[in-house]
Amino acid sequence: MYPKVLIHVDKYQNNLKMLLDTFHSKGFSVMVVSKVFGADQRLIEGINASSADFIADSRIQNLKSMTTTKPKVLLRLPQMSEIKAVIRYADISLNASLKTILKLNQEALRQNKVHKIILMIDIGDLREGIYYRDFDVSIINQILSLSNIKLAGIGTNLTCYGGVIPTYETMKRLDDIQRQIEQSFSLKLSLISGGNSSIYPFIESDEYPKNINNVRIGELLILGRETSYGTPVLGLYDDVITLQAQVVETANKPSVPEGLLGLNAFGEPVSFEDRGLLNRAILAIGKQDVHPDHLICPKGIHILGASSDHLIVEIQEEQTLDIGDVLEFKLTYGGILSLMTSKYVRKTYV
Ligand SMILES: *Cc1c(COP(=O)(O)O)cnc(C)c1O
Repeated sequence: MYPKVLIHVDKYQNNLKMLLDTFHSKGFSVMVVSKVFGADQRLIEGINASSADFIADSRIQNLKSMTTTKPKVLLRLPQMSEIKAVIRYADISLNASLKTILKLNQEALRQNKVHKIILMIDIGDLREGIYYRDFDVSIINQILSLSNIKLAGIGTNLTCYGGVIPTYETMKRLDDIQRQIEQSFSLKLSLISGGNSSIYPFIESDEYPKNINNVRIGELLILGRETSYGTPVLGLYDDVITLQAQVVETANKPSVPEGLLGLNAFGEPVSFEDRGLLNRAILAIGKQDVHPDHLICPKGIHILGASSDHLIVEIQEEQTLDIGDVLEFKLTYGGILSLMTSKYVRKTYV
């Protein structure tokens, strides 16, 4: 049955090994991020067998369902409604407010556990974290006084909301805060978590503040490219996860609909360019499974549009397609994310 997602376990293992070797050789510990593939257990097994230092996900459900020997890290700031589960299923969580940390401490005390936290500092991307200009060491004083919370380190996240690329000048802000904390309390923070897949070129350049000693990597492992500039990394596969969909109609039809035009299936206004008759195919996959912008077409195939359950493509000269044929697409990050969580898409392992 199609649509089908193909998970190339060996390609993931290749990417994993190469990147872990690279980061480890430079002295970084690595949190391997599983959210993009919905913490699929077969890929988790690969991570278990690798030299990954931690496994990280933004959803507590994923940390709960996975079987792993690695320490588990919750990436998204804990919700007040999931504190119990966070203490139960995560060894470490990323945090940005004392209110949440106090709640975590209470619950950790109740469960008789010590929960580690990484305090997030927002150095300009404006997603999570204490805004670096507002940072005040008094929060550290309060964290250090808690019985069941251990401050494992500080971290930052870039290139998410604001698209800020890691540079020396930006990363220096994290460095300054680390120094402030360590000097004020005569302690050494063990984890300085510098960023996600966008940090790769910066680290390759070797001109990063050398205090950073941890990275959290998801997309780079699945798509084989860093996310600051989108450059492919030599030796990594870009097709760890692909999609197959089946043709249910082929026909030559005009390029412009006929009649009075209103809105499309999604309530959006439509416009068409007259390119005469088009050689087209319809595939049994739609926006309910994946947005067409997130599909990377094979040669000779051009996407015309999609509704909830249908994908309409133009077949160009060099391609021929018949009913029953199967097309294979490479995917963007967004495509993998939505396909891995669609119950209508079969997952198979290669
Ligand atoms: C998702 C996420 C990551 C991983 O990002 P990639 O771009 O997939 O490497 C790292 N840190 C945090 C806080 C995240 O939410």
